[in-house]
Order: sequence, then C-alpha cells, then structure tokens
Amino acid sequence: MKNYRKELWFNVPTRRAFINITPQVEECLRESGIREGLVLCNAMHITASVFINDDESGLHHDYDVWLEKLAPHEPVSRYRHNVGEDNADAHMKRQIMGREVVVAITEGKLDFGTWEQIFYGEFDGRRKKRVLVKIIGE
Ligand code: ZN
Repeated sequence: MKNYRKELWFNVPTRRAFINITPQVEECLRESGIREGLVLCNAMHITASVFINDDESGLHHDYDVWLEKLAPHEPVSRYRHNVGEDNADAHMKRQIMGREVVVAITEGKLDFGTWEQIFYGEFDGRRKKRVLVKIIGE
C-alpha cells in the first residue's frame, strides 16, 4: 500500500470565507500516483472546516447568513470562551460545518457524487492555517 501526506496552507484576508480546494486535492492525488484508495482531508485548526457541497455562490452566501444566525460573531461578550480572544463563534461554526471529509479514489480520480466539491471553510481568518491531505491506497 502506498501513502501520501501533504499540508495545504491558507492565509484568508477576511474573517470568514469558503474556498474550493478540489483542484489542490486533485493535484495531491496526481502526485501520489494512487489509483484506488481513499483520501482524507481535514482542517488542522478548531476554527476552520473542510466539507463537501455545491460550488454555488448563492448557497455559500446562505451558509454564511445561516451560520451567523446560529452563532453570531458579535457581541463577542456573549460567549464565555471570549476571554482574551474573540473567536467563540468560529469554534461553533466549525463544529456545524465539520472537521474533515473522506473521498473514494477510483481509477485515479476523486469518486464524487453529482456536483460534489471539497471546500475549506474559514471562520477566523487573517492568519496562516492549514489543511491535511492524507491519501492511502495503491
Ligand atoms: Zn478560541
């Protein structure tokens, strides 16, 4: 069995953003040379997510509005976590949107369902953060 590991780095200039990272994961898959197996992709921070859904800007706007309703950023004083920091909402948004995804690899390609793409969800940006890509198979 072959294995492959890579960290993808991000430095999002805004507090929140959704970034389609499918091209980078496909590049990792090419580099790995693995044709049949599994890819695991996870955020390495507790205020960011990796999730799968549609690459549609209206939907991403709807997510942002929905998440902000569930866990508003302000007033930051509403959260007990926010002693010396202001990112309690980002921890909660990450919990809802998830830590990782696993995708099957078939004949050297990501074996997606219809419209599926992989996204990095940033909820406390403006600093360097990373995503782990781990691929196993043969
Ligand atoms: Zn925190």
